[in-house]
Amino acid sequence: MADCELVFLGTGGGRFAMITQARRTGGIRLSGFVEAQLDPGPGALVYSNMAGLNPSSVSLLLVSHCHLDHYSDAEVFVEAMTRGMTRRRGTLIAPRSVLRGHEGSWPCLSSYHLGMPKQILEAKPGDSFEVDGIRVAATRAKHTDPHTIGFRFEFPFGTLAYTSDTEYFEGMEADYKGSRVLIICVLRPRGKPWPGHMDSEGALRLVRGVGPELAILTDFGMKMLEAGPEKEAKWIEEESGVRTLAAQDGMRLRIGDRGVELSGRALDGFLRGIRSG
Ligand SMILES: [Zn+2]
Repeated sequence: MADCELVFLGTGGGRFAMITQARRTGGIRLSGFVEAQLDPGPGALVYSNMAGLNPSSVSLLLVSHCHLDHYSDAEVFVEAMTRGMTRRRGTLIAPRSVLRGHEGSWPCLSSYHLGMPKQILEAKPGDSFEVDGIRVAATRAKHTDPHTIGFRFEFPFGTLAYTSDTEYFEGMEADYKGSRVLIICVLRPRGKPWPGHMDSEGALRLVRGVGPELAILTDFGMKMLEAGPEKEAKWIEEESGVRTLAAQDGMRLRIGDRGVELSGRALDGFLRGIRSG
């Protein structure tokens, strides 16, 4: 059975990390077992090509909410997925705000682009879909786009989950229980909370409650980058006892029958102890 490889095309989040590209904002690519692009922010198309991942092989496009750092390249991925708008192909999963707009903001994709995927699934928390041989479920979020969702990807070899932008809220652990790998968007470090967004303290509560095999922090804002994502990850790991990693641009991770395995650059010293299963 094919493994699933995760490639962090970007690890930045928020307006200023995005504008300055202090970290790339290309979202995450899932490749192998499925070909999916998750939250294609600015740079997703460019870094996908640079990583040797053909955008046209994507058949599942997921957009968690209607904020530019998570959706800007969605239309080009629709063009790639539909082979230049010549074939109705692929699935787009997104919440209402992305597909239909909300409170004065327009949909994130034009009606021209929304007309081409073979299947569009409007998702709200609790929904789940069988797509491309996996189950994809939408999780709850508490964010400034009230329609924001996170995702759970249920593979035969385990569950991978992604919170998207959200603040910590009581009970959110339930949506991520049983996750083997938990990817958390952590915009802010300890002591710098911001309503609607996750900080390291909230991430610690979530990691403790879920108890995944591996937690990965990503989507760093400028204050997080100043504080040092690695330092914050180390603190979460020490406090929770759960292996925790700060994602880096270009980082790759493989999840499959043999366990979870990290690869790629900038991971020296982190490979030890990750293999399991
Ligand atoms: Zn957002």
